[in-house]
Amino acid sequence: MSGKNGLTANLDKLNGFLGRIKSAGLQHIIDGKHVPSDSGATFSVESPIDNSHIADVARGSAGDIDLAAAAAKQAFPAWRALSGSKRRDILHAVADGIERRAEEIALLESWDTGQALKFMSKAALRGAENFRFYADKAEAARDGRAMPAEHHLNYSVRTPLGPVGVITPWNTPFMLSTWKIAPALAAGCTVVHKPAEWSPVTAQLLAEICLDAGLPPGVLNTVQGMGEEAGKALTMHRDIKAIAFVGESSTGAAIMGQGAATLKRVHFELGGKNPVIVFKDADLDRALDAVVFMIYSLNGERCTSSSRLLIERSIADAFLARVAERVKQLRVGHPLDPSTEVGPLIHARHKAKVLSYFDVARREGASIPVGGAAFDGPGGGHYVMPTLFTGADRSMRIAQEEIFGPVLTAIAFDDEKQAIEIANDVQYGLAGYVWTRDLTRALRVVEQLDAGMIWVNSENVRHLPTPFGGMKASGIGRDGGDYSFEFYMETKNIALAQGDHAITRLGAPGK
Ligand code: NAD
Repeated sequence: MSGKNGLTANLDKLNGFLGRIKSAGLQHIIDGKHVPSDSGATFSVESPIDNSHIADVARGSAGDIDLAAAAAKQAFPAWRALSGSKRRDILHAVADGIERRAEEIALLESWDTGQALKFMSKAALRGAENFRFYADKAEAARDGRAMPAEHHLNYSVRTPLGPVGVITPWNTPFMLSTWKIAPALAAGCTVVHKPAEWSPVTAQLLAEICLDAGLPPGVLNTVQGMGEEAGKALTMHRDIKAIAFVGESSTGAAIMGQGAATLKRVHFELGGKNPVIVFKDADLDRALDAVVFMIYSLNGERCTSSSRLLIERSIADAFLARVAERVKQLRVGHPLDPSTEVGPLIHARHKAKVLSYFDVARREGASIPVGGAAFDGPGGGHYVMPTLFTGADRSMRIAQEEIFGPVLTAIAFDDEKQAIEIANDVQYGLAGYVWTRDLTRALRVVEQLDAGMIWVNSENVRHLPTPFGGMKASGIGRDGGDYSFEFYMETKNIALAQGDHAITRLGAPGK
């Protein structure tokens, strides 16, 4: 079903799922139970599509975090002691539950965030994949290394850290939550999750699915609320051993300070201003597809979006004309319309931020061949026009700052050296994309790019065993594969003496 019919059918289905959330509101889930805030406080969450009320949400405070941390602490010994194979089975059951409720998750996520259903249906299933992938790794999570020495056999094992905090942002919140929570649970940690206040809905679904799948109460606790309240209290809690955080770089810096007194281990996945470098010898048709996809999908609210297009000057005008043509054709519309490619932004405040960059671009002297204004979309929500800035200079704010919307800044370069200089000349270092048919050039360029993840002749294609994360202001640490276990676990070394090696004899007679 497409277009209008598809939208009507999706709205019908959504209303079936929304009813329960509207009437019951969203509560915390602590120790396996839905509970209101200690203080009774709530906040309201509205859909970015039409500003309609979705639910009243429990507004967590330090008291609620205390209860959740206590539940996670109490549940930890038994969860840690459970065999890897039992943890594996439970995490697979969670994946099954996500798959069963994938449509509900996708529809509610679209309604809550404004992200097009086209992408959210895949994001829900990716959440299930994350659980399956880490389910299969649970048995090997404790594995270490054998390091034989002259007189000792050294071997290492890994043990789970304990209760950990997971703090997530509002862009693709369900998928990102599973990306952090699945490895933590597979490692044997218990979790207190604080979802973003602008997108609280699917976190509750995840916690419910986990309980239904047999995850013991207290192993995953969800506390809703504001960053400065519940989030801050979580980062400062003495029983929470680590914070896995996804969000803005400035928030990461604040969390580092907040966690200092309790020596919190931190894992940060932060902002980006990722370059896509297109050389004139590239397959320009494929490069065009990837450039447009990587900034205008997910409303541009994507940490790995290629928000800076660095284009070789000799082909810049022709290539940018093709980009502009595509951007004009993007289907902006209701996120539940199956044909929609770009939906409304998450919140009025975020829309205002993105719009402010249109003024910045004009002041800085860039051109705006496409977009550059708000968009009057269905429902009257927080829509902006997909936008292209050209004629930009690397020092401009539109070339330096993360806008986090469907906005591409194009900068021309003269040669490979300059392309690399421009690419690296930002505070961020999350992802990079390189388009060229020259293999040796590709190898030279990737070697010099300061980015945690680089794709050559490709868009962002996920492979779960690979390290995911950024350099510089884009993050600390890596997720994916075994890398996540390095964060959620302690490494313990054991040295076994293999014989009668000489031990220095202090205070012994006859020396
Ligand atoms: P944000 O930093 O404003 O909020 C993220 C979370 O942190 C929310 O749950 C918020 O309530 C909480 N928070 C805010 N202040 C806090 C504090 N003082 N203490 C504890 N918690 C606090 O980020 P956002 O606007 O929700 O998300 C967008 C940002 O996330 C962008 O910068 C984007 O690049 C980044 N992001 C990065 C990745 C990645 O993998 N690198 C992935 C997705 C999003």
